[in-house]
Amino acid sequence: MLDSNQLFELKKILSQPRNIVIIPHKNPDGDAIGSTLGLSQVLKKMIHQVQIVSPNDFPKFLKFLPEAKKIFIGDYNPKGAEIAIKKADIIFMLDFNEPSRADYLAEHINASSAVKILIDHHQFPQEFDFTYSDTQMPATCEMVWHLIEAMSWDNLVDENIATCLYTGIITDTGNFKFPSVKPSTLETAAKLMKHGTEPHKILDRLDTFTVSRLKLLSPFVESLQLYPEYRTTVFKLSREQLLSEGYQKGDTEGFVNYGLAIENIVFSVFMAEDTQQDLVKISFRSKGDFDCSEVARKYFNGGGHKNASGGKSHDSLEDTVKEFVNLLPEYAEKLENTTV
Ligand code: 5GP
Ligand code: MN
Repeated sequence: MLDSNQLFELKKILSQPRNIVIIPHKNPDGDAIGSTLGLSQVLKKMIHQVQIVSPNDFPKFLKFLPEAKKIFIGDYNPKGAEIAIKKADIIFMLDFNEPSRADYLAEHINASSAVKILIDHHQFPQEFDFTYSDTQMPATCEMVWHLIEAMSWDNLVDENIATCLYTGIITDTGNFKFPSVKPSTLETAAKLMKHGTEPHKILDRLDTFTVSRLKLLSPFVESLQLYPEYRTTVFKLSREQLLSEGYQKGDTEGFVNYGLAIENIVFSVFMAEDTQQDLVKISFRSKGDFDCSEVARKYFNGGGHKNASGGKSHDSLEDTVKEFVNLLPEYAEKLENTTV
């Protein structure tokens, strides 16, 4: 948490009406969208003008969230995003550790003289005017809740805000399944429920598939490459496969986790050609003490968390898979000795 001086400073800054922009990372997930929506609705209940500016669009399964439709999508109007950021006197950056994770918005963030506030749980955070970073936290949404309590804003939290924050907590913890879950996570969830959110309704929305997601499971499962000696699975989908099933953003979210459901597997990788840009997007997931973010950082221009990270490659899909498989021997010992 921010220290008491910083909390006091932040209170002082927010005691006057401000023009606030809140930014999630590129390809925002449930935690990025939930935390930005939750915080924005709290700040709006005060005296502030608040706009969420996302670098690009977000998955359809998150569009049910309260005020999701008010999120400004930079990709569809880059000039508008630039103007919003230029006009801001406060910029919140949520669920990412450095401006480059907000893609082309980084340039405008860096050029801005606004007060900058980072709230995030990824490793290696950049320092800003206010940096609330905690890599032990399972979700930025939990951190936003802790900030809300520390600032005594909890009386402002209604059912909608609670729903946004709860959604980010369950999407980033695999519905309270991951080792990152703490007593404080469950306490936060309970408090959000007391503020009116109904978890079963959120789960029902999140579990509702597009037809294309269900259909894409077939080529995804077919693509399985199993490396038992490295306790690793590799999956891949080409652009053609994605488009032929009518791919929509978010359709393959979470697929990579299926690899870890196989007995003895501790490292799962999913490589998919981007449907819009000429690159391969890579998702890494691991179990126990095997740090998949190291592989993402070292070889695939990425990063993230110990057990969930991502990266990208500008080589072809087949070459990227080969590169990955070829570097498995380097990690053989670590993979073999991973305890879950
Ligand atoms: P996903 O596999 O869901 O896309 O990403 C998993 C985790 O890795 C997320 O926490 C995300 O923030 C992080 N991540 C994904 N892609 C990148 C990337 O290109 N760079 C960095 N630094 N982190 C990433
Ligand atoms: Mn997150």
